[in-house]
Amino acid sequence: MAKNYDIIIAGAGLSGLSLAWYLAEGGYEGKIAIVDATFAPANDKTWSFWTKDKPPFEDIIYKTWSSLYVSVLDYEHTFALKDYTYNAIRSGDFKEHVLSRIKKLPNVDLFEEGILDMFSKKKKKAVLKTKSGDTFVAKYIFQSVLPPTGLDRTKIKYPLIQHFLGWEIQSNQSVFDPDLPTFMHFDEDWNDGVAFMYTLPYSKNRALFEYTIFSKSLEEEELYEDKIVEYLRENYGLNENEYIVGRKEFGQIPMEDRPYLPWYDKRVMNLGTSAGLPKPSTGYAFMRIQKHVKLLAESLISGNKPVLPTHSKAQFRYYDKLLLHILSTSTNDSLNVFHDLFKNNSIQQVFAFLDEQTNFFEDLKIMNSVPYTPFLKAIRENLRHK
Ligand SMILES: Cc1cc2nc3c(=O)[nH]c(=O)nc-3n(C[C@H](O)[C@H](O)[C@H](O)COP(=O)(O)OP(=O)(O)OC[C@H]3O[C@@H](n4cnc5c(N)ncnc54)[C@H](O)[C@@H]3O)c2cc1C
Repeated sequence: MAKNYDIIIAGAGLSGLSLAWYLAEGGYEGKIAIVDATFAPANDKTWSFWTKDKPPFEDIIYKTWSSLYVSVLDYEHTFALKDYTYNAIRSGDFKEHVLSRIKKLPNVDLFEEGILDMFSKKKKKAVLKTKSGDTFVAKYIFQSVLPPTGLDRTKIKYPLIQHFLGWEIQSNQSVFDPDLPTFMHFDEDWNDGVAFMYTLPYSKNRALFEYTIFSKSLEEEELYEDKIVEYLRENYGLNENEYIVGRKEFGQIPMEDRPYLPWYDKRVMNLGTSAGLPKPSTGYAFMRIQKHVKLLAESLISGNKPVLPTHSKAQFRYYDKLLLHILSTSTNDSLNVFHDLFKNNSIQQVFAFLDEQTNFFEDLKIMNSVPYTPFLKAIRENLRHK
């Protein structure tokens, strides 16, 4: 017998649970089924984001910073974030927080099951099949479990991924500055693609170090780990017997140059990464996901059609394309672009640009601040292979 609901949320990760949270906040009264392979909270992802506003999920923010360090080629700088904050939320804390609230709601049921398939049926219904043979039916499914349909990765112009491995270090010495995360630290000797170290310091002796690469394929685990070991030795004087690795975090985020389809099937909508929400040139997705699911929840609460994820405006998609071209063709050009971008702009301007909140004149100013030859090459290539 099929289980009937108004909506099904397939996947209880960032996008699925955020949607459930905003539906609960807004007093949605329809019946909701949430299906995921596991509801066990795990701190396997640290979601960081900048914002000018009150951050979402403020109660569970693990740490907030008001400055950031950047180092590219001969330029290094500590940026005061002023009206922005940089925040980190751990995925396990998030899951626990959202589940403890929605579990109490009479209209929400949780099902811990592997999802096999989702599709639309006649009479405006969507069907979800689980690996254990259960069937769920609803008006709509919102899914973040399966990759979107109709995307052929071999046809991507710049098949880049952002991949990283992180170690949360507990050191026996107080060597970290808990107030200063490292946004990007490039080292000219790293030649694994466009690669940098990203650091979130939680206290003087505990910090997350992530060796991050923009390239076409993943590397062996040892490569990322060796870089972290070397970085800790060279930058903090820490030998391997002077710290323990408390937690590891691995990630790969697609850097796609084309918009994903909003619908997996007629009545099955994509959310989160499946909806192509990570920003192509940076991989940041947290705030973009919040924006979409908040609007989506509002549309469902008011009985309207589900709101689609908004695609970036044409000019920002074009800038992303140019940046992806540079990132995928020349590490040197990429470093020069990052160098000038940080050197010639305030971090507030960079954030506004990456948030796609700048106007045409502000974009021109940013474009004028970086070396133009790599962009001209990228424009020429884009025109040639349109
Ligand atoms: C390690 C890591 C760190 C990241 N850090 C940042 C960051 O700092 N800032 C930022 O902006 N973005 C970050 N991102 C990018 C993005 O924000 C995250 O990937 C985010 O989790 C995407 O949300 P989602 O809902 O699409 O997917 P997820 O959060 O991954 O949720 C998908 C859910 O689907 C479930 N699932 C999968 N397959 C099945 C199946 N067959 N059956 C049932 N359930 C299934 C999973 O258990 C999971 O709960 C990071 C990504 C990763 C991987």
